[in-house]
Amino acid sequence: DPATLASQPPLFKIKYEDIGGLEDEVLRVRELVELPLKYPALFARLKIEPPKGVLLYGPPGSGKTLIARAVASEVKAHFIHVNGPEIIHKFYGESEAKLREIFEEAHRRAPSVIFLDEIDAIAPRRIDVSGEVEKRVVAQLLASMDGLVSRGEVVVIGATNLPEAVDPALRRPGRFDREIPVNVPTRTGRLRILQIHSRGMPLADDVDLEALAEITHGFVGADLEALCKEAGMLAIRDCFAELDATDAASTESLAEGTSIRAEHFAE
Ligand code: ATP
Repeated sequence: DPATLASQPPLFKIKYEDIGGLEDEVLRVRELVELPLKYPALFARLKIEPPKGVLLYGPPGSGKTLIARAVASEVKAHFIHVNGPEIIHKFYGESEAKLREIFEEAHRRAPSVIFLDEIDAIAPRRIDVSGEVEKRVVAQLLASMDGLVSRGEVVVIGATNLPEAVDPALRRPGRFDREIPVNVPTRTGRLRILQIHSRGMPLADDVDLEALAEITHGFVGADLEALCKEAGMLAIRDCFAELDATDAASTESLAEGTSIRAEHFAE
């Protein structure tokens, strides 16, 4: 069913405060995407052509999907999440038709955000691909972008780790004419992300998030989220190790006494 491929209703609302660091990135996306979606008439009156497409690029797990979902939630736009490799491989031979359907759906349900994750798989540089099918998919995407006459009510956000692998025709004015790097977070960004993902966790006093932010240079948001989850799992493991020894605690007292300690973050 094409509808279930593309439109996954957001599981929960993503808010801007769920995004750690990335203030500049979020600000730019809000200006370029949120304002036109919210105030199309204003842009029309001032004769400002909002971008049809914005390309987010940066390492995996740095928050590109998160930003796209937050913008869509904010304006209550219909969000269509398209996974690049999936649309190519799972729907081999039907990829162009799928793309057309996705753009039609976006129109019907506007305001809409079409999020094309791993867009390099949908639109690789045509000089690098030999297959006719692959070339036709790129051409279809270009045609769909050119066909957008929505004045901001439909915006395409592309995401890639490899901007150089995307067909240059896509990066021209009127298509993805804005590119926003989504970089690995700074120390302050890492601290924010750790705070976000440990929100509500029972952290012992010896857990020093500032110190963790200091030593996690190079970690992206997804890595920091995994670090918090892993620490929680280690705390649970310790807790069960103790339980085996005493075999006495009730579930409630077990839960009450358990906290996540610095050592759980260290492993
Ligand atoms: P990919 O290129 O692999 O699609 P991505 O850049 O789209 O990666 P996301 O899917 O947005 O990355 O991030 C994965 C998960 O990591 C998010 O669901 C979120 O929980 C966490 N995460 C990433 N970046 C951040 C951030 N800046 N603040 C808070 N959480 C983050």
